[in-house]
Amino acid sequence: MTNRRILAMQDVVKRTPVEIDKSKEQVSKYYGSDVFGLDAMREFLSEEAFESIQQSMNQGTIVDRKMADQVAACMKAWAQSKGVTHFTHWFQPLSGATAEKHDGFFEPIEGGRAIERFSGNALVQQEPDASSFPNGGIRNTFEARGYTAWDPTSPAFIWGETLCIPTIFISYTGESLDFKTPLLKSLSALDKAATDVCQYFDKNVTKVVATLGWEQEYFLIDAALYHIRYDLQQTGRTLFGHAPAKGQQLEDHYWGSIPERVAAYMRDFEYESHLLGIPVRTRHNEVAPAQFECAPIFEETNLAVDHNLLLMDVMEKVAIRHNFRVLLHEKPYAGVNGSGKHNNWSLATNLGKNLLSPGKTPKTNLQFLTFFVNTVMAVHEHADLLRASIASANNDHRLGANEAPPAIMSVFLGGQLSSVLDEIEKSVHGGKMSPEEKTKLKLNIGKIPDILLDNTDRNRTSPFAFTGNKFEFRAVGSSQNCGGPMTVLNAIVADQLNKFKNEVDALLDKKVEKDEAIFQVLKKYIIASKKIRFEGNGYGDEWKAEAKKRGLTNIATTPGALEAMISKKSLDMYESQGILTHREQEARYEISLETYTKKIQIESRIIADMVDNQIIPATLNYQKSLIDNVSGLKNIFSADDFKKNAATQIELIKEISERVSTIKKAADAMTEERKKANTLDSAKKQAHAYCDKVKAYFEDIRYNVDKLENIVDDATWPLPKYREMLYLR
Ligand code: ADP
Ligand code: MG
Repeated sequence: MTNRRILAMQDVVKRTPVEIDKSKEQVSKYYGSDVFGLDAMREFLSEEAFESIQQSMNQGTIVDRKMADQVAACMKAWAQSKGVTHFTHWFQPLSGATAEKHDGFFEPIEGGRAIERFSGNALVQQEPDASSFPNGGIRNTFEARGYTAWDPTSPAFIWGETLCIPTIFISYTGESLDFKTPLLKSLSALDKAATDVCQYFDKNVTKVVATLGWEQEYFLIDAALYHIRYDLQQTGRTLFGHAPAKGQQLEDHYWGSIPERVAAYMRDFEYESHLLGIPVRTRHNEVAPAQFECAPIFEETNLAVDHNLLLMDVMEKVAIRHNFRVLLHEKPYAGVNGSGKHNNWSLATNLGKNLLSPGKTPKTNLQFLTFFVNTVMAVHEHADLLRASIASANNDHRLGANEAPPAIMSVFLGGQLSSVLDEIEKSVHGGKMSPEEKTKLKLNIGKIPDILLDNTDRNRTSPFAFTGNKFEFRAVGSSQNCGGPMTVLNAIVADQLNKFKNEVDALLDKKVEKDEAIFQVLKKYIIASKKIRFEGNGYGDEWKAEAKKRGLTNIATTPGALEAMISKKSLDMYESQGILTHREQEARYEISLETYTKKIQIESRIIADMVDNQIIPATLNYQKSLIDNVSGLKNIFSADDFKKNAATQIELIKEISERVSTIKKAADAMTEERKKANTLDSAKKQAHAYCDKVKAYFEDIRYNVDKLENIVDDATWPLPKYREMLYLR
């Protein structure tokens, strides 16, 4: 039988770029046309309905049921004018993907006929069965039913033939079962806390939103090769594969010219994204071969999160048209860089001011410093929870590897801002400031904008870096729902701002002057949060040692990192702000453990399957040809000549036998560990067993398989090789 890998490679070399319709070029002509946005609303809704929905969008209030009927009818009319036949509630269960169940608009009526209908009820609420989605035990005690409820702050959109309505997903008893519900609550907690603090500086601030600009990294692979790599298909990463001779060491891929087939793909998914109002603008090659990145213009966080999820779906679907598969896994290939999703985060007021951008006057800069220092303090206080928010089986491969931020949480500020903080630390002595001190401080703060203007400080090794007018959370994984980490960040900053306000107010009550009160509290935070600040190389071993000295945690694997989710500090922080109850957060913790276990379990099974029915058979076949060769040589040579001529083959035969036996023994032992782990009685114990006992075999098996890949005849090796998958033509 012909080798499937060789057949697939024949397909790959024949590929040509998909033709793109050039008429698509002017983005402004079609941008957002598949979104039920303001324009569509104005056109299709009555004035009354338009006002009511606007109010819900701006204030997050519930849409009136009567109005909902009207909005639903108009949405349907709009969608039908674009050939849409179905609708779905589009939500974000804790499985990580988005969920949708498409229903037709039509309803049968008497006389065997049907009408098209979409009621307000169908728009506002649906009842999917919650038991089929991860719920961390919430369903065991209560009913299996769950609700999805419309989120009017994220507009409905058309994807394919379906009208998609972004919704939250909660249990029958009101517990959140998704990423969106706590995200929305964290955003509103942050809005309130930040707006309150803004009153010290500007009474006209009535609303603060968190903004998010993500950068999505991804790999592309030819579909023909993807289809015969079961590990890629089912786990998202290659469980075997010898490193190619040429990987990323020449650094010739980063920002290099984009291969034409890839450019055609990018144009196509950007086009689809623009129809959906996703403001994707930047594209470039990334560090590893076959790795790329795209980034949008930042948006309000809830919308940005929805857009990122939708984009990942768009990218996957469009890739198929181009005979590609997109790999969103954090580490599809060993030995070359993995993929992250930097989350650029900031705060913006209703007056259009970015609170993390220094202003023109000392007063506005004090406001900047307030939000800046409080964010650093929040990260200091809840570093472990932030670490937990990016913990996953996939991301474990990246964090701490020599390419991605370490599992130690630290904040990079840049030299200049660090010295501004140092200055404050030195100059405010509690009690009253002298007039000279005040002038000096204000002068220093006044200089911040000029400093930042030419502040080109960039530290790529920090997990959480200030980059001029925003913080960049770099440790987020490429396949993750940004809603998870953004909920944590919003929640901890909101909590911190509340504490700040309480402390400043207490000083104001004691008649301390406002600026001075603010300075005093900031100074206290600057001192308290000092150990989280790190300006050096986060990839170096020196940092690990230094971090340990400072008492910062460095938890390399997920089961350990997740513990922070249920620490008393985390639970109280969430519950006191009404973002997640203890019970909801505990359920999330259970789900994260279970997801971890399942991922490692699947990988372990696939390793055993591929070893048993692909790698060992192909290797033994090749070994047989060596044995045939040796017995043939024996027939034609004298004993002495045979020894000389068959030595290499005999060595190879031996090496193959040894490696095959090592692989097989390890795979069998791994299966035994799996069986043991499965009998353990808690999600926590299981996750730890999978991490420490089952996963422990992966490396040894892989090492030996990869050695065999190099020995076995290229024509018989069954799996596409790194050198084939990583080079796109
Ligand atoms: P780099 O790779 O140098 O970090 P990019 O241009 O790739 O820069 O990405 C920067 C991201 O930061 C973009 O998505 C951009 O929209 C986003 N961004 C810029 N300003 C803000 C802000 N105020 N709030 C949130 N995100 C922002
Ligand atoms: Mg960036």
